[in-house]
Amino acid sequence: MKMRLVSHTHWDREWFLPASFTREWLGPFFHSLAELMRADPEYCFVLDGQSILLEDAAKCGVLTPELAQELGRYCAAGRLLVGPYYLQPDWNLVSPEALVRNLEIGLRDAALMCEGGVGEPMKIGWLMDNFGQISQCPQIHASFGIDSVFMWRGLTLPPNDVRSEYLWRSHDGSTVQAVYLLDSYRNAMRLLSQGAAGSQDGASSHGAAGSLAASDTDGGQGAPATTQMERRVQAIANRIRPFSPTGLALLMNGYDQEMEPEAVTPALARLAEQGYDMHQTTPGAFVAELGAALNKPGMPPLPVVHGEQYNGRYICVFPGVLSARSYLKRENYAVETEMEQYLEPLMATAMLVGEGSYTQPAEHVEQVWRRILRNHPHDSICGVSVDDVHTDMEERFQRVRDELALLQQDALDALLLPPLADGAAAYPHGPALTDVSAALPHRPAPKDAAVFNPLPYRRSGVVAVELETERLGGTEAVGHEVSDTSDDLYWVTDVPGLGWASVPQVQDSAPASSASGAAAPVVADAVTDVVGNVETRTISNGLLSVTAEPDGTLTLTTAQGTRFTSLLELEDGGDSGDTYTYAPPSIDRVVRGVKPEDVSVRVTGNGTVRATLQVGLTVRLPVGLTEDRTTRAAEEAVVPVFHEVSLDAGAAVLRITSSVRNTVRDHRLRLRFPVEPEMQKLSVGAPFDEVARDASPPAQDETDIGADLRQLMLGAREPDTIRTMPMRDYVCCSNSEGSRGLAVYAPGLFEYEFRDSAVHIPVLRAVGWLARPDVSTRTGDAGPMIATPDAQCLRDTTVEFALYPFESTAERARVPAVAAELRAPLWAFPGRARDTAGLLEIESPHDAVIMSSARVV
Ligand SMILES: [Zn+2]
Repeated sequence: MKMRLVSHTHWDREWFLPASFTREWLGPFFHSLAELMRADPEYCFVLDGQSILLEDAAKCGVLTPELAQELGRYCAAGRLLVGPYYLQPDWNLVSPEALVRNLEIGLRDAALMCEGGVGEPMKIGWLMDNFGQISQCPQIHASFGIDSVFMWRGLTLPPNDVRSEYLWRSHDGSTVQAVYLLDSYRNAMRLLSQGAAGSQDGASSHGAAGSLAASDTDGGQGAPATTQMERRVQAIANRIRPFSPTGLALLMNGYDQEMEPEAVTPALARLAEQGYDMHQTTPGAFVAELGAALNKPGMPPLPVVHGEQYNGRYICVFPGVLSARSYLKRENYAVETEMEQYLEPLMATAMLVGEGSYTQPAEHVEQVWRRILRNHPHDSICGVSVDDVHTDMEERFQRVRDELALLQQDALDALLLPPLADGAAAYPHGPALTDVSAALPHRPAPKDAAVFNPLPYRRSGVVAVELETERLGGTEAVGHEVSDTSDDLYWVTDVPGLGWASVPQVQDSAPASSASGAAAPVVADAVTDVVGNVETRTISNGLLSVTAEPDGTLTLTTAQGTRFTSLLELEDGGDSGDTYTYAPPSIDRVVRGVKPEDVSVRVTGNGTVRATLQVGLTVRLPVGLTEDRTTRAAEEAVVPVFHEVSLDAGAAVLRITSSVRNTVRDHRLRLRFPVEPEMQKLSVGAPFDEVARDASPPAQDETDIGADLRQLMLGAREPDTIRTMPMRDYVCCSNSEGSRGLAVYAPGLFEYEFRDSAVHIPVLRAVGWLARPDVSTRTGDAGPMIATPDAQCLRDTTVEFALYPFESTAERARVPAVAAELRAPLWAFPGRARDTAGLLEIESPHDAVIMSSARVV
């Protein structure tokens, strides 16, 4: 067995302590690392694939100019390996564009450190600890010239095919060489001080191999270090041997927040003298050696895995993080959207067509991006840290919002002319806007407005013009909340791709039915009024008809007669798990639906461009778990729920805003969206992708796992098939003939379960512990047992859904394009655009090309 050792640290910047505490550890860490590298000119070290350690160290004064220079020399010499990421994100919960920026910034920071030397940023994917792998991981890495990755969690290879290496392929054929960390990223942690390692169990992160060191030794207190180390190294090699056709064993010498890298090379040299084929290596050198071994004649071909890797049978992917502290995910989604869909395209258009003096404040924008990204580490955005960490995140989000508002204001100032005085001439050119609510009596004449379309094709639809508010005076205006009165709603036609429509003074004579020329396929050719019927509690627009039933659920009927019933049914069960993992109490009491006497419905907006059903519910839910956590408490409290269901003229999509004031603990509140029993074909939004998933995934069989493999599975696991899966923006269910389907959109929510022919989406999951040792749906620990009262989410929660029934294939129905449109609605401002021409039109079949970024580079 050839044993190769990589020295590294895994740095959870904030987790069981906030960043302000872990920052204190950067001094001891960098000083001992520098000392070690100075003393041993051969020593190499991997800085956890993330450059932010250096940035943090510089900010807190640890990285003095002298130290920076010294570390820079090690980087330039290829001994200190920095990058490729800025930080270690969760790959499912952040925007695809944010993943790209993370790599861009990380590689740039790393390149700066290597300046003037032969070294370069580490061009190896470093997927140490993130909770499951997205389908486009190979393509994203390949697009940065990275053709190999080290990864751990999520592998889907069947037990009889698990190897230490495989090829991993994305849809487009991009393939990376994957090195699978069979027994974790710390199988050889603390080789020189292993006696102490056993005592680290309490702090072991994410249920990884905290007890590994202890289990590898026979307790050899007092035995010579080399002997202990030798036994340990042999044990690792023995475990890995059955899975490594090349005979290469990877030893990962590092641990979470390791402050003292080990001077391991003299001990390795002694082992080499004793005949062991063993030395320290770098990830790049390891991959090169692996490639050479794989090319030898007679070597069996590597298994190829395709797409996402989201399976917890060997090591946890922690599906409960998809819904823990859902408020953080929604806020992150909102600021990412503001940055990617509005600010950057606005700045780009301002530079191209705006006032001559405008230039994008590139440095400021990058600082805002870095601040957004600082909320993306896996322990942060996943919601699995102590409360203080997540309070820090909310403050960061608020600061980002403030900065986005300022930057948007500057770009808009360059782009827009002030509104004309009332009664002045209409804007001379540009698409026409018809005020379909002009027939309403006593309507004040609006000023000019300009409508921005951030997507690369022409669109029509309803916009809200914020006439009475400051254009972007404060943080409120960053959102796109639609006014709750119909007065400010307009039907706008044909806004060019990545461009503006100027809205002229409203013509009093234009009724809704005269609006025409709607180009976007979601909008009907002949737009009819939206009508609401108070008696039947129904709203309809000629395409869709929606009725609020006495039990508070919705019935949705299409023009072709397809009906979906019991939509928005509430389901609430107990949760005795922790932030990582959902677990029902052993005797659960699930509350389903609401009694008619607890439902109130209001119909508004009759005869305008938008009609709305307001559905108020009063739900009584158990206040928490019983003291022994085996069931839900008998005592109940009222939880108010409010749905606003709105239908626009010409829209084939129904939009829903649901608000919950959570007053109870230890529960998971989901909304159900039942589909026809034939609609079992699932296509699910994913970063840069849409993935097909099983409606009824097969049960996992624990007996498939042989003794050899079991020896490697030292961390926490999900022994049963995972049913709650990641999504981005939508889950689409269609029938096998491709003649009908329903797409359920939930922007900013990231978890769904398909069960009993219904999509279930959690609005919130409320738990009181960072991690617990007694979670029934997981084997092993996930982290320290720390109370996290804020993870009970006792706050107001507002989420958005949209429902899109279609009578074709999902592809022809433009399901992903509709997701992009919902994420980036037309945006209206008081004022006049300087130029109404669009800057970009992308034509693709069914608008299947989604533009993730339009920016100045
Ligand atoms: Zn971690």
